[in-house]
Amino acid sequence: MTNKENFENIILEIIKRNPSSKAEFDDTRRKVCGKLKTTQPSNRDLLQSYQNLVKKKRVKADKQLEFFMRKAGIRTLSGVAIVTSLTKPYACPGKCIYCPSEARMPKSYLSSEPAAARALGLAFDPYEQMTKRIDMLKKSSHPTDKIEYIIKGGSWNFYPLKYQYWFILRSFQAANGRRRHCHPERPAERQGVEGSLSEAQKRDSSITDSFHSSSTRNDIVKELQKEQSYNDKKARHKIIGLILETRPDLITPESIYHMRQMGCTRIELGLQAPDDKILKLTKRGHTVQQFKDAMFLLRQAGFKVDLHFMPDLPGTTPKHDVEMYKMLFSDPGFKPDMVKIYPCTVIKSAPLYKWLKTKKYKPYPEKKLFEAIIEMKTATPRYCRISRLIRDIPTPDIEAGNMITNLREYLATEMKKRGLSCECLRCREVGHQANTPSDLPAGRQAPTLLGGERLPPSKGGTRGVLSTKVKLFIDKYETIGGTEYFLSFCARGASALGGEDKKREVVFAFLRLRIPKELSTSPLLYKERDRVRSITDKLPEIKNSAFIRELHTYGQLLNIGTHSKKDSQHKGMGKKLVQEAEKITKQNGFEKLAVISGVGVRGYYRKLGYRKNGTYMIKTLQKTVSLRETKR
Ligand code: SF4
Ligand SMILES: [Zn+2]
Repeated sequence: MTNKENFENIILEIIKRNPSSKAEFDDTRRKVCGKLKTTQPSNRDLLQSYQNLVKKKRVKADKQLEFFMRKAGIRTLSGVAIVTSLTKPYACPGKCIYCPSEARMPKSYLSSEPAAARALGLAFDPYEQMTKRIDMLKKSSHPTDKIEYIIKGGSWNFYPLKYQYWFILRSFQAANGRRRHCHPERPAERQGVEGSLSEAQKRDSSITDSFHSSSTRNDIVKELQKEQSYNDKKARHKIIGLILETRPDLITPESIYHMRQMGCTRIELGLQAPDDKILKLTKRGHTVQQFKDAMFLLRQAGFKVDLHFMPDLPGTTPKHDVEMYKMLFSDPGFKPDMVKIYPCTVIKSAPLYKWLKTKKYKPYPEKKLFEAIIEMKTATPRYCRISRLIRDIPTPDIEAGNMITNLREYLATEMKKRGLSCECLRCREVGHQANTPSDLPAGRQAPTLLGGERLPPSKGGTRGVLSTKVKLFIDKYETIGGTEYFLSFCARGASALGGEDKKREVVFAFLRLRIPKELSTSPLLYKERDRVRSITDKLPEIKNSAFIRELHTYGQLLNIGTHSKKDSQHKGMGKKLVQEAEKITKQNGFEKLAVISGVGVRGYYRKLGYRKNGTYMIKTLQKTVSLRETKR
């Protein structure tokens, strides 16, 4: 029997058994291969055989089955396809003792990390990285019409500004599928980070001067604006979010202005520990207050912030780590939208390795680390998303520290055993729930939206859905300089998780609204006034404005224009959330609402009456006219 026939037999047998979830699919595949006494084929091979069978009309197309076969199905569960690119090797002003340095790589990345290895193979060329990733996603049947674009590598704002704009321009050109103005980096530009900081800077300024030798930064910016406009209106791969990674001491009104020009919507911001003693000991090179200042400025411009927290650093204990983590959600200077928990690991090329060898540092025992993270998970509020637990560092590179690569799954199992649950946003997203409308037991009623809109039952009625209505919940919390409203459409899950409010076990959509405090009335803000003014001087369009900082509807990502009844995207939840946000904005006396929208989602807001002003989508809200005023 040929491989092709073998794969077709496997997929036909799987279809017969009709798995209803990804886990069930994997299990069925294993059993079928055991029965057929054959090794398990890759998802890609299986998918290809399935597609051939569909073409030959031997089986019917089944979107759910296709999803199960995708290599990394989870990547599009949140409603977007993720594309990650790395910047070229370059110095960073930080001297963090745990940060690895590899000559060919940008600071803090290892060539053995999967995404980093891909970038290295493409000489960190942004055009190539974007193009190759889109191709790969397409080949494994992932929709790629909406892209969340993450740029990693060292500290973004430390790279020369011209390089930053060039990198973004080339990325947009790749997403737009336009080959013009192609200037791949020359081999000389692929140099490593070795040598002193000043040497690196000197070398790099000569490199960047040679980029677009005939183009000035202004030329690049103008070109970028054209590409952004094309991406907004015509592109097949719309960049709906742009995420940049940086240090708090590099956040200024000036850098915020440039990042908005680039289309940035979210910042990955390293803090690691809200404790100045630890920051000093680990040579972070900034203080806790500098982090809070950065957070404040970013929020005042409507950005989302993903805070990086690192337990198990030198100078801490499990107890102190938990205390510090809890402080992130009690101190109004923090309260991040997302958090990445990266337990400290020792890599040979980092100075911490020496500390390990000389016994100056010893990670705490694994068991204690797990217990601390479980406590952190249970202390995470619903508005925050734990976007990562551990970094993708291959185990052989880790000299000490956590080596469990599937820590998240391990902890989830442990927490379930103890009847504990994590109520963070990620764990409640409809796509990450084990029991979601597409794979719940039969016989349950379909959930409904606030306005009576009903989610359709799943295919053939064989898989049931949730038993309660989808309701709107509004959480309100204070941060420095403003009040945050977290609006979410949620329903009761069937997973019987613990938690104070079971009606919110599954999140279908959410919106983050910021109502800034009136500068004139807030004593708290007196010292902040100048800094706020400097932001509005740079971005006058957001003066006196409230912000929609994020709007997200979950579900398997659909190609724009196609229709799948099972998914929560495009079901009007987003629109309802925006209407609710407008209502709250008006109730708070604001007449202007600005959306920090990704370039590729501007069209969505245009339909809701928002217009582009500067780099934001803005709507002037009509004052509610009272009955008495109408009679007069
Ligand atoms: S700021 Fe980040 S990239 Fe720079 S040295 Fe510290 S950990 Fe490494
Ligand atoms: Zn969680």
